[in-house]
Amino acid sequence: MIDIKRNLQSINNTAQPFGAKVVAVSKTHPTETIREAYHAGHRIFGENKVQEIVDKADELPKDIEWHMIGHLQTNKVKFIAAFVSLIHSVDSLKLLAEINKQGAKLDRTIPCLIQVHIAKEETKFGLEEHEVFQLLEEANRMTHAKIVGLMGMATNTDDDQQIRGEFKRLKSLFDKLRQSNLPHNAEMKELSMGMSSDYQMALDEGSTMIRVGSMIFGERQYI
Ligand SMILES: *Cc1c(COP(=O)(O)O)cnc(C)c1O
Repeated sequence: MIDIKRNLQSINNTAQPFGAKVVAVSKTHPTETIREAYHAGHRIFGENKVQEIVDKADELPKDIEWHMIGHLQTNKVKFIAAFVSLIHSVDSLKLLAEINKQGAKLDRTIPCLIQVHIAKEETKFGLEEHEVFQLLEEANRMTHAKIVGLMGMATNTDDDQQIRGEFKRLKSLFDKLRQSNLPHNAEMKELSMGMSSDYQMALDEGSTMIRVGSMIFGERQYI
């Protein structure tokens, strides 16, 4: 049996000395499972599909902070704009502009992270370093989308040195941006990196937000 409460306690204990937040990645898990984590006191949940996050947000308590962590299509922003607490996966100007537009309609500013490509795999989404600078320049014009940091996913490998190197690279970009002239409506506050297999390393390397799924809820069943 998976002990969600105990798993959360153990991960929170690890993250706390670093001052890092824990995003409980609940994708594919039913609302009863999320309720269990909620009753254990957890409030931040991450999902990677629009339909799923919408349905779950609708059904579950309103004081949950919902984070969109997966690739987001521009035409679906409107479905989550009203309630999402943080979008981790901004990887184009087109997407940021749409978030801004939907935010303006609702008169709410939507916090966003820029997803940076740090993994070796071609398949992982995210911007290259020079594109991050370009996007930040454009962010100047956004009145209802606010960039608050960066997100990255390391290569899926057993090579810890490789993973650590990728986290170091992201942290160094984060620090460089922190010290640079950011647009008035952007800040570098959150660094979202680390998942079940690598969150300890991510914390060591400066993560402020870890996204943990299977270590809390067990293996996912994809149907
Ligand atoms: C699924 C997912 C996670 C969590 O993965 P686990 O290995 O189950 O911890 C973290 N980040 C993103 C972007 C994900 O899609």
